Amino acid sequence: MPKTEDHQIPIIAIVGRPNVGKSSLFNRLIQKRVAITSDIAGTTRDRIYYRLEVGDITSILVDTGGMEYGKKENIEADVQSQARIGIAEADLILFVVDGSEGLTSNDYEAAQILRKTHKPILFIANKSDHTGMEEQRHELMKIGFGEAIEVSAIHKAGIDELMITLEKTLKKQGWKPQVAAPENKNVTNICFVGRPNVGKSSLVNALFGEEKLIVSPIAGTTRDAVDVGIQWKGQEYNLIDTAGLRRRGKIEVGLEKLSSLRSLEAVERTDIACLILDFKEGISKQDMHISSYIVEAGKGLMLIVNKSDLMKKRDEEENRFLWNLKHKFDFLPWAPVIFVSALKKTNIEKILDIANQIQSERSKTIDLDELDGFMREVTYRHIPPKVGINRPKIYSLEQSKVNPPTFTFVVNDGKSLHFSYRRYLENELRKKYGFTGTSVKFIFKTKEYEKKGPPRKQK
Ligand code: GDP
Repeated sequence: MPKTEDHQIPIIAIVGRPNVGKSSLFNRLIQKRVAITSDIAGTTRDRIYYRLEVGDITSILVDTGGMEYGKKENIEADVQSQARIGIAEADLILFVVDGSEGLTSNDYEAAQILRKTHKPILFIANKSDHTGMEEQRHELMKIGFGEAIEVSAIHKAGIDELMITLEKTLKKQGWKPQVAAPENKNVTNICFVGRPNVGKSSLVNALFGEEKLIVSPIAGTTRDAVDVGIQWKGQEYNLIDTAGLRRRGKIEVGLEKLSSLRSLEAVERTDIACLILDFKEGISKQDMHISSYIVEAGKGLMLIVNKSDLMKKRDEEENRFLWNLKHKFDFLPWAPVIFVSALKKTNIEKILDIANQIQSERSKTIDLDELDGFMREVTYRHIPPKVGINRPKIYSLEQSKVNPPTFTFVVNDGKSLHFSYRRYLENELRKKYGFTGTSVKFIFKTKEYEKKGPPRKQK
């Protein structure tokens, strides 16, 4: 697919017949490359897409293995269903075969289907960690994609090299490092995401029906025809991809399903993502996946529960919904939830009021002395648990950025702090300083001293 102005993030799809190790490779590639702290408990295993930083290029990695439906024996149907959903959107395909078994007729069939897509393909032989690889190499060439990139997802072999090849390939295709939300910091960027039929278009149209709302072109955003600038209570907002939602009729619902991965691009450009839910449907795994993505991308998040006009006992049903979010799904406790009705136009204005609050939380800074005290207090109350015989140590903490608020911890070993301890730190930080409605980012930097030994003079 050729790149266009509104097509800025490469989608990389892992494709291949069953059992070649697509999911293992997927997991290996995303491991430690994403901010796992923020993943919502219980959803990691069935996620099929992740935000993957390939060098300095942000991409979306898709595991089409998770999309296989139908009988596994029916490779053609399998690959075709993958082709329809995953491959159709991919900018680069990682075609995976089994380097220990050699090629099967299913691989050849898959290859043929992939060739027809005319998409760029990287040919990968997984499980290439066995002794017979010499003979296998020649055999693998026969499928016509040149020499295979040899990896072992399980034994972590060839993964760094694959990442380097990926980066080179994407750069050659012309992909650039992602430019974050438009620069103008007086403007808050907002996007609306959610499953088909939750009422995104209705909600956007209801928002535009608000009397106090002024639609105004904002300098710097005109480049993008699908964005809409608005003013609300003297504050400027840029609604990303909104023109499309306003125009859209029902006919396109099916089409939208297919392009759901593309809608993640709007998330990349935004400050705040509004995830729309249908009160009757509740929250689904798919909603949690997109929320995890929003958090990984370091954005603000608000949950808008639409169709509240269908509630019979309002308080009771709202409480049940909130209880479910909190207890059943272990959902992000810091994301504000509002109940609205696009149909009755209730609570619509609250969306922008809350967006404004989230944006000020995203711009907040905590000074160094204050954070130093915080760090001493929380590590005193709960010392980082030992890893083997070593106890991780945190030396200092500072806020290195805003939008999203980013905190840099200098530690003796950046990798040693346990996931649950990172979560503890985030919870404590939020308890003390708020940051309601926004993700926060933690960077754990290994102290130079520990890495290289003591420097001669300074420190
Ligand atoms: P989208 O696919 O998310 O953009 O959803 P639409 O805006 O097209 O809405 C899907 C369906 O839900 C339509 O039939 C709408 O009339 C209906 N709908 C949207 N908002 C509401 C609401 O607040 N209450 C009720 N009862 N129905 C709604």
